[in-house]
Amino acid sequence: MAVTLDSLGESVGTEQEAHKAAEVYHRLLDWISALKLNANISVKLTQMGLELSPGLAETIAESLANHAHAMNNFVRIDMEDSSLTQITLEIVRRLHARPGLRDSIGVVIQSYLYRSEADIEQLLSDGISVRLCKGAYNEPAQVAFPSKADVDANFIRLSCMLLDSPVYHGLATHDEAMIAATRSYASQHRIDPSRFEFQMLYGVRRDLQRRLINEGYNVRVYVPFGREWYPYFMRRLAERPANVLFIARNLFRS
Ligand SMILES: Cc1cc2nc3c(=O)[nH]c(=O)nc-3n(C[C@H](O)[C@H](O)[C@H](O)COP(=O)(O)OP(=O)(O)OC[C@H]3O[C@@H](n4cnc5c(N)ncnc54)[C@H](O)[C@@H]3O)c2cc1C
Repeated sequence: MAVTLDSLGESVGTEQEAHKAAEVYHRLLDWISALKLNANISVKLTQMGLELSPGLAETIAESLANHAHAMNNFVRIDMEDSSLTQITLEIVRRLHARPGLRDSIGVVIQSYLYRSEADIEQLLSDGISVRLCKGAYNEPAQVAFPSKADVDANFIRLSCMLLDSPVYHGLATHDEAMIAATRSYASQHRIDPSRFEFQMLYGVRRDLQRRLINEGYNVRVYVPFGREWYPYFMRRLAERPANVLFIARNLFRS
């Protein structure tokens, strides 16, 4: 399986912290190359200082994308809450247009947002690689579909748009219905499994991850690490409250 590494952290409070966070990613890019790992990096712009100054986050993201390009690697910019969607997409589009960075940077789109179809059209016309996910933040009905059925239907619609494009994209979900729908669209339209990848969180549905690999699909596992785990962990718990029981049971056992 391929991997994407996420050095946990978001919404830093000072410029110094943003540079420190970026330093971890620079080291990761060097180590991935030295150890010849099949891995790239996933970066949150608020960890690079987006809320302090968009210019700061853009400069840091540019230096990471340049480093990734020099190492023949790739930076995926994670998507955060909807107040940051527009600025995140603007930064990614500007960096993607810089000489040499075309294959070194991509972004994430969330199927719960109403705007995502238009965003994907724009990103595809620029040839930017997308990771499609459902979306993990608490969003109001003014900007996001409140019902799971609509989020799911949009995920399938958007994943078909991605599969039809010549760019390599990632479909990030553990939902078997989403996976079955995209697989069947790909096979009906003779889209080879090598042209896209499924992505899942480390430790979630390992059985499904293995099954997809055995059936010839590309799978990338998102591996978060580091000390700033609290907001990430809370989003995962909110997504699946059963995890609270799961963790409690395992703590008790150990
Ligand atoms: C690789 C990757 C990158 C992501 N990047 C972003 C991002 O940049 N921005 C963003 O907003 N969101 C991101 N997400 C989170 C995503 O938006 C969803 O919140 C999350 O993936 C749950 O949605 P689902 O598609 O798996 O479907 P759901 O319908 O939520 O879940 C389907 C099934 O998957 C299993 N499952 C799902 N989540 C968990 C969990 N946490 N623990 C255990 N089992 C679980 C359960 O069996 C559940 O029934 C990412 C997800 C992945 C896999």
